[in-house]
Amino acid sequence: MPNEQGILYIVPTPLGNLADLSPRAIDTLGSVSRILAEDTRHTGEMLNHFGLKVPMISLHDHNERERAGLVSGLLDEGNSLALVSDAGTPTISDPGYHLVSALKEDGYKVVALPGPCAAITALSASGLASDTFTFIGFLPQSGAARKNAISEILNKKETLILYESPKRIHTLLEELRPAGHRQLAIARELTKVHEEIIRSFCDTVTAEEVRPQGEFTLILGPKAADEAAESAAVMDMRRLVELALKEGLSVKSAAALASKFLDCSKKEAYQAALELAG
Ligand code: SAM
Repeated sequence: MPNEQGILYIVPTPLGNLADLSPRAIDTLGSVSRILAEDTRHTGEMLNHFGLKVPMISLHDHNERERAGLVSGLLDEGNSLALVSDAGTPTISDPGYHLVSALKEDGYKVVALPGPCAAITALSASGLASDTFTFIGFLPQSGAARKNAISEILNKKETLILYESPKRIHTLLEELRPAGHRQLAIARELTKVHEEIIRSFCDTVTAEEVRPQGEFTLILGPKAADEAAESAAVMDMRRLVELALKEGLSVKSAAALASKFLDCSKKEAYQAALELAG
């Protein structure tokens, strides 16, 4: 009789507090034939802590697509497998999406266990509106791609969730300043000894308040309705001024054009043009 096909379990792991590994996650990790791990050494330490000895296969951003054949072969032989990342929920700003997508397409059974996720943990503790939210994850690290991504997110009205490294956290706070008096929750080192959640506003938060160490998840609160309209108009004006400058118009002409066509203040358009030209 052929083997029954195995199951791929997606197993979230602790963000920093090992007690957050659920009993079901421990059972599942202990029952599978192999664990697909982002970093086998890191996961090995966690398995040791729970007295689990399970063979591991590395699965990270750079080999994920190549692993699909190996994984489906193991499942076909009747082996169940668990997918873990270094911390939190696999596939959420972590490897796994390509593998899960390929397996689902081929009709394999994939079962996800609920568990730790920095985005949801930060959102639930932020006290900011959680009825509608968008998970942004990491922004591009630099250049035009980052600038565009910031412009795009500042136009969004709903609560936003961002991941950021300690290296760029102060830069991000500066980049979010144009959002004005929009609420901000900065979750640092969630579930760890030095966990803190700083509540502030985009226009008043200071670098001194935020120690650039550890892991960060930012929650940007929703835009107030009138603020949304005002800042959309400012964004339109800045975009038009930027385009005009790119087309070779002088600072003065770009400002005059924006003020004429968008019926905005000449002085504000001039300020924006000066800034964008510099
Ligand atoms: N898959 C993970 C999850 O479910 O949360 C996220 C992985 S992503 C590579 C790692 C990022 O998540 C970190 O750079 C940080 O932005 C955020 N993060 C992870 N652990 C955190 C913690 N303890 N406190 C705050 N943010 C955290």
